[in-house]
Amino acid sequence: MKMNVPLSAPDIGPLERQAVMQVLSGSVLSIGPQLEAFERLVAGYVGVKYAVAVNSGTSGLHLVIRSLGIGEGDEVLTTPFSFVASANCMLFERAKPVFVDIDPLTLNIDVSKIEEKITPKTKAILPVHVFGYPADMREILDLAKKYKLYVIEDACEALGSRYHNKMAGSLGDIGVFAFYPNKQITTGEGGMVVTDRSELADLCRSMRNQGREEGNGWLEHCRLGYNYRMDELSASLGVVQMQRIDEILNKRQAAAEKYSTRLKEFAQVELPYVGPEIKMSWFVYVIRVPDRDRVLQYLRARGVGCQTYFQPIHLQPFYTKMFGCQKGNFPVTEKVASSTLALPFASNLTDEQIDYVVETLAEALN
Ligand SMILES: *Cc1c(COP(=O)(O)O)cnc(C)c1O
Repeated sequence: MKMNVPLSAPDIGPLERQAVMQVLSGSVLSIGPQLEAFERLVAGYVGVKYAVAVNSGTSGLHLVIRSLGIGEGDEVLTTPFSFVASANCMLFERAKPVFVDIDPLTLNIDVSKIEEKITPKTKAILPVHVFGYPADMREILDLAKKYKLYVIEDACEALGSRYHNKMAGSLGDIGVFAFYPNKQITTGEGGMVVTDRSELADLCRSMRNQGREEGNGWLEHCRLGYNYRMDELSASLGVVQMQRIDEILNKRQAAAEKYSTRLKEFAQVELPYVGPEIKMSWFVYVIRVPDRDRVLQYLRARGVGCQTYFQPIHLQPFYTKMFGCQKGNFPVTEKVASSTLALPFASNLTDEQIDYVVETLAEALN
């Protein structure tokens, strides 16, 4: 019997619906109390002084690059194994992403290969906590200190993950979360910049709001700004999702454990690695399989939503054109990317759905 299991699904319940309806019955749809409440909840949860909500993770990354003054001619070290926005944010400001290959176990930037890529133009390191797995932040922070570089955490996939018991997003100079519907929590579209540095938070706050400054008039613009504001409907969703975050993350953890228990019997399947220094907040459940493309086609044909997270950024068509990147530039990334397969994953994944995915995968591998 065929079943349709989506690749991801948001966890939206009656409390979320009630909160959004309540905003709709009032007259404040933007710049209101929900935004402030959501920012306070995220700052408190992550353990940082400031949180600035924006309308996407990508907007957040852009504001971070601008707030640090990174621009034309500057270089930022980052990973090619990520969603494209983590490198695009540099291109928005004519800075250059300089890729560093990844560690085959954690799938994060390989810290032993960072130093050789540092030049006088390097301004920052931007690790991505890929699939929710925090990067090797100790080594990254040590290098940043030695060479006076900023550390920007792309924590868009890692809300709630811990590294040596510290929250992802709170470890560098500044971090970014995202709330697209496939993330751990969602606001529809949305993102959040987090930092302990007031001058960076103030700049991001001003630039998300057309360059306005606190205390000045609505039509006074102190700097180049954007409209990257999060509206009250989205923020009200975020408030309820944050109130439920432990419940949501526990359900995701349970779903990941069920997959791992079932799939460890499969000799051809490589399970996601979780090191002792890590507490995972599961964003996706990604396995590695031989003959991945054939397996993916088989699963999709039988209604199992799956995806090839990620296609290396340096091999995206416009990167090969802009920077002359080629196959072979980052062999670990390319090898990993050819075998990764994201299975359906959500906090409300049912046992029947997991059974169906596992059984269909068994058929595909036989
Ligand atoms: C989701 C994501 C983003 C930001 O995504 P938006 O869709 O703009 O919210 C950035 N980086 C990574 C690694 C992501 O997974």
